[in-house]
Order: sequence, then structure tokens, then C-alpha cells
Amino acid sequence: MLHIGCHLSAAKGYLAMGREAVSIGANTFQFFTRNPRGGSAKAVDERDVAAYLAFAEENGIGQVVAHAPYTLNGCSADPAVRDFATRTMRDDLQRLELLPGSLYNFHPGSHVGQGAERGIELVADMLNQVLWPGMRTTVLLETMAGKGSELGRSFEELRAIIDRVALKEQLGICLDTCHVHDAGYDIVNDLDGVLGELDRVVGLARVKAVHVNDSKNPMGAHKDRHEKIGLGAIGTDALVRVITHPALRTLPFCLETPNELDGYAAEIRLLKARAEEA
Ligand code: FE
Ligand code: FE
Ligand code: ZN
Repeated sequence: MLHIGCHLSAAKGYLAMGREAVSIGANTFQFFTRNPRGGSAKAVDERDVAAYLAFAEENGIGQVVAHAPYTLNGCSADPAVRDFATRTMRDDLQRLELLPGSLYNFHPGSHVGQGAERGIELVADMLNQVLWPGMRTTVLLETMAGKGSELGRSFEELRAIIDRVALKEQLGICLDTCHVHDAGYDIVNDLDGVLGELDRVVGLARVKAVHVNDSKNPMGAHKDRHEKIGLGAIGTDALVRVITHPALRTLPFCLETPNELDGYAAEIRLLKARAEEA
């Protein structure tokens, strides 16, 4: 069965997200661990978490994806920014132990003039500080479009980060269709070739989640502007091939398209129907 959902607001808590997911036909979802621009997280309401876990069990909601705030930049040149990133990630990961078996996705960050090599070292240092043996969350590095000095623009950069982390078993990759397309990987005409390359460089077993987005820009544009499914340069057919691909189809798929809830519900219906036909 397809494991599909979308990004939801965490403002009303976990149970509210679970209900919202079910209301739009989703069986997974993604949420920000705190305001996407950073700041402190709300205190964890353990009753809300317990109610959510029971609701998720009853309604067949599977593994969910927590997304770190965009301001988290573990490879900044500014030690204060790096320190904020490390503290935020550690705090997020400690909270997520309440939702055992979840995924925690983050953007590797922007090295801003220091060079990718230094950026890779800094992100790996952060991960080595915040991961602990036996933690129940898998931390995902998101594939990035390569806007500005963004790290994670190539599979090789992600591999280089993973190589430097001691607790590799806690790490995975989140494949964002808009980002890899904008980074220059031809998932429209050669999905098998792209996944073959990902397998050679990182290993497909590391891919733990997929962000399903169309793109407003042509392949290789390094822009990162998400588009609604079918209205962009990737198109519905190519995205259906992603969600039905034998190497990916059991993963959680999260839409991050520019939509309100009704738009998400329609895209989930469409992709479910197309996946069934395929
Ligand atoms: Fe993201
Ligand atoms: Fe994404
Ligand atoms: Zn994006």
C-alpha cells in the first residue's frame, strides 16, 4: 500500500495532525519540529503524544517525518549559528524519542564561501555531537537543489558527510524530487539512471523518505521552487514513476507542494489512483 501524505502544520499538536492527515486521505505526514524560521519549541504535551499514538495505530498512520527548521545551518562560518544548529538538533532528537521510529530530516546547510569540503566537515562534526547509540530516530540528509552555496547538491556531497559520521546506522537520505531535478539529475527521462547513480554513490538502502514535488524551473536550474503536481517541469507521469519504482515504493512519500489542505487531498487522490493503475 502506498504510504503518502504531505507537510502539515504542527501548531495544534500531534493528535490534530493525525486527524488532519486522515481527513485528506494521508497515512503519513511531515511537520516542522518548531517554527521553520527557528526559535524555541513548544513544551511536549505527553497526553497529546499518547492520544496521537493510539489514533495513529487505529487509523494506519505509519512512520512520520519531522523536519528541522530552515535556519538550522550546521556548516555556517559563524560559530554561534553552528552552536544554535547543534543545540536545536539535539533538543529535537531528544523530543522525538517520544515518537519512536520516526525520521528527522534536515538540510545540510550553506557553507557560504568556506567551500564544500569545509562544510562537509562541519556538518559531520555536528552529527557526531548529537547522535547517540540506540537512539530510535533515523536522521535524514535532504538532497538539495544547490541554490547558492547549499551543501547536498550532489550525491557525492551527501556520501562525504555520511563517511565522516561515526554512527552511520542512524543516518539516511531524503530524496526530494524538485531538488534533485533542480540539481541536474534527470529523473524525468532517466529515473533508473539517477537511482543507479544514487545506489553506487550512497546506496539505495540509505534512502528512507521521498519528498514528492513538481518544480517551477528546468532541470539543473539550482532554484528550489516547488510546483503543484503536474504543473511543473517534472510532470505527473515522472512523479508516478517515482512513487511506483520498485526501489522506492515502500517509502513514505510527502508532498511539499504549494497547496492548502484541499489541494493536498486532491493530489493524494490523484497519486493513489495513478499508483494503483501502474
Ligand atoms: Fe526540506
Ligand atoms: Fe523537501
Ligand atoms: Zn525545497
